Amino acid sequence: MTVILDGKKLRDKIFLDLKAKLDNMPQKPTLAVILAGNDPASAIYVRNKKKTAENLGINSLVIEYPSNVTETELLSKIKELNNDKSITAILVQLPLPEHINKFRIIDTISPQKDVDGLTPYNLGKLFAGEEPYVYPCTPKGILLLLDEYNIDVDGKHVVVIGRSNLVGKPVAQMLLKRNATVTMCHSHTENLSEITKTADIIVSAVGKKVIGEKMLKSDCVVVDVGIYKDENGKVRGDVDFENVSKITAYISPVPGGVGPMTIASLMLNTVELFNG
Ligand code: NAP
Repeated sequence: MTVILDGKKLRDKIFLDLKAKLDNMPQKPTLAVILAGNDPASAIYVRNKKKTAENLGINSLVIEYPSNVTETELLSKIKELNNDKSITAILVQLPLPEHINKFRIIDTISPQKDVDGLTPYNLGKLFAGEEPYVYPCTPKGILLLLDEYNIDVDGKHVVVIGRSNLVGKPVAQMLLKRNATVTMCHSHTENLSEITKTADIIVSAVGKKVIGEKMLKSDCVVVDVGIYKDENGKVRGDVDFENVSKITAYISPVPGGVGPMTIASLMLNTVELFNG
């Protein structure tokens, strides 16, 4: 019987603990979120982040811009937030409108306020094997989930599918730091299933159905990061959950696995930045 890596349950446990800590803090952190454009999914994510922060006792500030916002406007807002002592953490909701250079925007966030851990300073620290101010939220959430179920990655072969700066690359570095043997796969990888069959643990961050049960060895661990809507509008992950879960030792569902852990990490990071 496979064990479900229950992200909702762990998130609730983390929030209980975090709320108690925040209740005892005389001053509260403030999370500033920049939302540019009118991507409906982004608007929902930002609303959830604000609501979650406020329920925990974290102040939150959402700064919205229309899709024709200029890069100069965004850069000057980020500089203003960097210099504002009342702001603890800055998050720029991605994706940004196409005419905006996202790297220039992210690079401008002060590393001490970079709650997503995505600035070159924090990613650089991570890749050098040093401590960043905070770790990127989704990779951090994935490792918290593995830890909760006592899944030790030391010496294990972990196959990471997807090589984004947001998920694939940082999670691979974090796993490497914990002595996993990491293989990175992406859209140019040949014979993906030959590689995944040798995996003890799979972390899949693609955004389409890429993993079926014939691609895995039995009793492996599957962490499904992907989120997309199928033709019926149902939220899906990268993994054929119904069949894959028959052979795995542990598997994270979508929804209810990595998603809640990402938001839990965001809140943890906000408090970590506040406490310095
Ligand atoms: P991304 O930047 O679009 O990266 C997707 C990666 O998948 C790329 O590296 C791409 O390869 C690779 N890929 C595409 N098709 C493939 C295939 N057929 N076989 C193997 N690899 C393939 O995405 P992301 O930002 O990392 O997000 C990935 C997914 O995770 C999305 O569904 C996103 O919504 C979800 N996500 C979920 C959470 C959460 O909290 N649960 C957080 C972040 C992201 P190339 O590099 O060669 O193009």
